[in-house]
Amino acid sequence: MTQTENVPVTKETPFVPIEKIVSLAKRRGFVYPNSEIYGGVSGIYDFGPLGVELRNNIRRYWWWSMVQLNDNIVGIEGAIITHPRVWEASGHVENFVDRLVECKNCKRRFRIDHLPEENLLQNKCPNCGGELMEPRTFNLMMETYIGVIEGERMKTYLRGEACQNIYLDYDNVLKSSRMQIPFGICQIGKAFRNEVTPGNFLFRQREFEQWDLQFFVHPGEMQKWFDYWKERRFEWYKGIINHRDRLRLRAHGPDELAHYAKQAFDIEYQSILGWQEWEGIHWRQDWDLSRHSQFSGQDLSYTDPNTKERFIPWIVETSGGVDRTFLNLLLDAYEEEPGEDGKEGRTVLHLNPMLAPVKVAVLPLQKNKEELVNTAKDIYNRLKRLMVAQYDDVANIGRRYRRQDEIGTPYCVTVDFDTLQDSTVTVRERDTMSQIRLPISELPAYLLERVTWH
Ligand code: ATP
Repeated sequence: MTQTENVPVTKETPFVPIEKIVSLAKRRGFVYPNSEIYGGVSGIYDFGPLGVELRNNIRRYWWWSMVQLNDNIVGIEGAIITHPRVWEASGHVENFVDRLVECKNCKRRFRIDHLPEENLLQNKCPNCGGELMEPRTFNLMMETYIGVIEGERMKTYLRGEACQNIYLDYDNVLKSSRMQIPFGICQIGKAFRNEVTPGNFLFRQREFEQWDLQFFVHPGEMQKWFDYWKERRFEWYKGIINHRDRLRLRAHGPDELAHYAKQAFDIEYQSILGWQEWEGIHWRQDWDLSRHSQFSGQDLSYTDPNTKERFIPWIVETSGGVDRTFLNLLLDAYEEEPGEDGKEGRTVLHLNPMLAPVKVAVLPLQKNKEELVNTAKDIYNRLKRLMVAQYDDVANIGRRYRRQDEIGTPYCVTVDFDTLQDSTVTVRERDTMSQIRLPISELPAYLLERVTWH
């Protein structure tokens, strides 16, 4: 099975309002506002029991696709705090800024680079039409201090982007593994930014998680590898969503490109928020390793073992967000299906089964029949060792199916009176609601084939 075959095909659905996702996420234990009992902190969230399962699946699937399947890629996990010079070398201390304008009337704040051109030219608030104040510049780095004695404490930063660790560890990876160029280093990790306009739920947070591939190449092979990773990453995202027409690759215009970049693309997803960046594919050239060589005084050049040519490797970067993936998957999967023939409708998350937080729910038809309950618990106890499973005997079977649909559980196994006679169960599939009969002994293989990546 390939990574894309598992994706359910759904009818065209309208864009889902963010509020519906926020509400479902809280009600069903995906995402909670952080420190809610104290009034919360804007742009910071916690993940609940189902959220942590979905998040772990998203991370693991990326890691499997990138690190496990590619012989020329290894992974690292770097620290959140680094030497402060790192952020001088990277340019963050000087240039990691957002310019912000505030409306004199409604007090809403906007990033200048997000303002429609018309509003920028007329100095007019896009919300109320009021006059905008003079722009102000803010650095996004979050400061912290190492050490306890006043005067000896060293100011540094929580990392503003996770990828810097990869440049810092590049030489250690080369020396401690058997990698040769071209090769890549991957990492998933938290990043922190004092975003001036946090919002849209998980889309723009102050604490979030990124995944990065930094792929080191010979300058002469840069274009080839850039094109390769651009296509591979685009296909990867296509493989995890239902609405593939809502995904596009957008080339950066000349005004958006960094001075060292020949080109750059954003993989964008279209939702109620419009077309928005999900992952960036960047041409970083020799910028990062050269800067760190210069600032640290360490030679980070590479010597080709065959040709003995020495050069600073060029880098293709693919950098995306775990949280934006989480949010986009929910926006992509959410559907309110009206009931047919006077029947009750349902809310369903058409999540890709391999990413769904719960893989299977085991349901005895009735709760007051001991034999049904014992058999269902027995099946549940066997399945939970293989995959995330739930046992549920509360309320009628239709309601229990609806509860599982709403959290995206791809399969429900129902134990009924026939089960006690012939050891078969009903397996109900989430998207089509179709049901088949299977021997209990065949359940593990049947489900594993459909809910795991391989
Ligand atoms: P934006 O232009 O939206 O501010 P960016 O270009 O600064 O994003 P990068 O620095 O390239 O973003 O970060 C790589 C990825 O990290 C983004 O594609 C996005 O998925 C994710 N990301 C960036 N900032 C945030 C944030 N504040 N909250 C959640 N995810 C983020």
